[in-house]
Amino acid sequence: MSRYDFTSHRLFLDAPLHAGAEIALNKDQANYLLNVLRLPEAAGVLVFNGRDGEWRAQLSIASKKAARLIATEKTRGQDRPADIELLFAPLKHARLDYMVQKAVEMGVCAIRPVITRRTQASRVNLERMRANVIEAAEQCGVLSLPKVHAEVPLRQVLDEWPQKNRTLIFCDEDAAPGGPLAALETLRRGGSVPPLSLVIGPEGGFDPEERAQFLLLSNVLRLSLGPRILRADTAAVAALALVQACLGDWR
Ligand code: SAH
Repeated sequence: MSRYDFTSHRLFLDAPLHAGAEIALNKDQANYLLNVLRLPEAAGVLVFNGRDGEWRAQLSIASKKAARLIATEKTRGQDRPADIELLFAPLKHARLDYMVQKAVEMGVCAIRPVITRRTQASRVNLERMRANVIEAAEQCGVLSLPKVHAEVPLRQVLDEWPQKNRTLIFCDEDAAPGGPLAALETLRRGGSVPPLSLVIGPEGGFDPEERAQFLLLSNVLRLSLGPRILRADTAAVAALALVQACLGDWR
C-alpha cells in the first residue's frame, strides 16, 4: 500500500467521481470546509464515494456558505473489503458509536445489529450509525463503506442462517479458552475463505438458550477470545483483529 496521505482532509461525497467532476457541497460540508477548517480557494482535499476510488479535489468557493469541489486526479483505486460482516447486540450510545467506528477501521463490509435477550439498547439509531461509518471512513482512509443493516431479532438470524452461504464465528464468552488462530485456520477451504459473519453479544452476554441455538447451526465456529471476559466493544475489535490477521487482509 503506498504511504497514505495523512495530511489531506478527506470528505465522503455521495456523487459520481471522475476527472473534472464538479460536486456542489451541501450546507454541512461547505460549513466544515469553509468555516471549521477555513480552507482557502483552490485548497486540495481528498474525496471518495465508496464506489469510484479516492480523488484529489480542488475547492471552488462561491460565498461564505457555498462551495464546490472539482475532482482532478485519482489518488487510489476502489478496493473491495473482505466479506466479513459484524453482527452485534447494540450497546448504549457512546459504546455503540465506538463499536461502529472500530468495525469500519477493521475493514468489515457490513454491520448488522442483532437484538438478543439481554440487549439493553431498546432501539437503534441507524442514521447515527451511518454517520459514524462515514466519520470513521473519512478519518481512517477507508474507501469502502460497510452497509448498515436495520436491527433484527436473533431468532430471525438463527432461522435464516441455514439458507446463507456464510460461516458464523460465534464469539462465546463461555467457550473454553484455547487456540483462536488454529480454530480460525480451520475455516480456510483450500486457498479460499468463505464469507464470514462474527457475532458479539450484549453487555450481559448470551443466555444459555441462545448459546445452545447457535451451537445447533451448521457453518458455525465457536470462538474463545481468551481467559478473560472482554467488554463487548473490546471483544469486537479483538475478534476482528484475529480474523483479519488469520483470514483477512492483514495477512
Ligand atoms: N459484561 C461485559 C462483557 C459482556 S460479554 C460488558 O459489559 O460488555 C459481551 C460479548 O463479548 C460476549 O457475548 C461475547 O460475544 C464477547 N466476549 C467477551 N469476552 C469473550 C471471550 N473471552 N471469548 C469470546 N467472546 C467474548
